[in-house]
Amino acid sequence: MFTPVAITPPLVISQPSWLKAYQDKHLGQAFPSLEARMQLVIACQRENVKHGTGGPFAAAVFEKDSGILVSLAVNSVEKSHCGLAHAENMAIGLAEQKRGTYNLADPTLPAHQLVTSGQMCIMCYGGVIWSGVSEVVFGATAKDIETINGFDEGPLPSDWIAQLENRGIHVIAEYQREEAIVAHRQYRELEAHVYTPQRLKLG
Ligand SMILES: [Zn+2]
Repeated sequence: MFTPVAITPPLVISQPSWLKAYQDKHLGQAFPSLEARMQLVIACQRENVKHGTGGPFAAAVFEKDSGILVSLAVNSVEKSHCGLAHAENMAIGLAEQKRGTYNLADPTLPAHQLVTSGQMCIMCYGGVIWSGVSEVVFGATAKDIETINGFDEGPLPSDWIAQLENRGIHVIAEYQREEAIVAHRQYRELEAHVYTPQRLKLG
């Protein structure tokens, strides 16, 4: 029998206190239209910038067909002192723990959809592949994210969408892109910290 014990020291990834009101109000609620799902994500993305609680990124996992909200998260890298705490990773991890499985593609579960304010970085791209979601919807492009504030999205393969499609993960790209870019511009105007790790330049 497996008895889980907390690792020592525990890995703690926090979410900002303002997000709890969104979660309390909306988790379990059905968002039938894709437009409404992305609008919720963009609202949280902007709140994260406004409150100074993280980067301009938010993500949510919905049941794909019913639109029921399973998880909702924002970027918490700096506040959590954890480079893993991207919004997409957080939303996926919260959804998996809510479902009690690492595999959201479990045949006993409904299909799941990740809606994210921006194209995934290479880390969250891997997270999506291992998550079991069957659809990804993103707003801002990696180029938007990299050029507006200088975040590093990593070396995604040029055929990354085809790679997901080949694994049965449908991609809806640049959905409400212009609205998803606004928070990036707001982040730039605040001259907020761009927390991409510094690396040695090669060559
Ligand atoms: Zn990421």
